[in-house]
Amino acid sequence: MLPASLAAQTRTIPEWCKPLPRPEYKALMRVPVSDPWFEVYKVAPGTFAIYEPHQAEEVISYLILGTKQAVIFDTGMGISSISRVTRQLTAKPVVVLNSHTHNDHVGGNSEFMFVYGMDTDFTRKNALGSRADAQAEIAPDEICGNLPPGFNRKMYVTKKWKISRFVHDGFKINLGARTVEIIATPGHTPDSIGLIDRANGLLFTGDTYYPAPIWLYRPETDMDAYVASVTRLAALAPQVQMVLGAHNIPVADPGVLPKLADAIVAVRAGKGEVKAEGTGKAIHAFQGFKFLLAEPAKGLD
Ligand SMILES: [Zn+2]
Repeated sequence: MLPASLAAQTRTIPEWCKPLPRPEYKALMRVPVSDPWFEVYKVAPGTFAIYEPHQAEEVISYLILGTKQAVIFDTGMGISSISRVTRQLTAKPVVVLNSHTHNDHVGGNSEFMFVYGMDTDFTRKNALGSRADAQAEIAPDEICGNLPPGFNRKMYVTKKWKISRFVHDGFKINLGARTVEIIATPGHTPDSIGLIDRANGLLFTGDTYYPAPIWLYRPETDMDAYVASVTRLAALAPQVQMVLGAHNIPVADPGVLPKLADAIVAVRAGKGEVKAEGTGKAIHAFQGFKFLLAEPAKGLD
């Protein structure tokens, strides 16, 4: 029998936290950084996944280095300082691009001088910051292990940030001997983007694809747009070697993208298994993919 104190501790470990660390990370090259809130992995030359395993989103931001400057594709939860981590990885200027502006991807935006934004009302509204979504992220069953020392629960909000420049589909950033290009992928949100590094065969997909249930239930989600965006990404699959999503596990095979496109089309045609999840939502599972949709599902035939 466990001592009472240990039993209590065991009970408080959230379900999602139990299978961590995920075995896929064993094959990746870990890069030591000073802040235990983050885990950093070098996933390709000059390309770092910055993972936050102690919070249920398991969000992953990416630092992409050129010879002149760097892009950080998302800035995570804002629970600990991501700019302190990027400064340990590069001395070059770092500009922010967000895969979209849900709170779990923009938490560190305010720590950076230059933040690019898509020219949408959704982006402008989120750039004002907010409290409710941030507070929900630190409920006891959302945290695995310890919050950073000195973290102030009551003060935790998504901080507002200034959009330095509006960007658009096809916008290219020259990082010095390396170029990344925006692929607009509206659907999950109106301002969702992917980022492609064509020369190195890398495609960063944000929340349009990651290897876990894909959230498509919020009012800002547009299912028709999502299907069109996934179809666009699927067409890029033959040109890329690695797909890098924004949650759970950073590296996937590009072959997943055409399968994802088929899966969401099948689910919208009423195929697959449906299981209620929380209030007004359901998980639709089809051939290894899972989608969390509003119930009754929007746009189902
Ligand atoms: Zn999102």
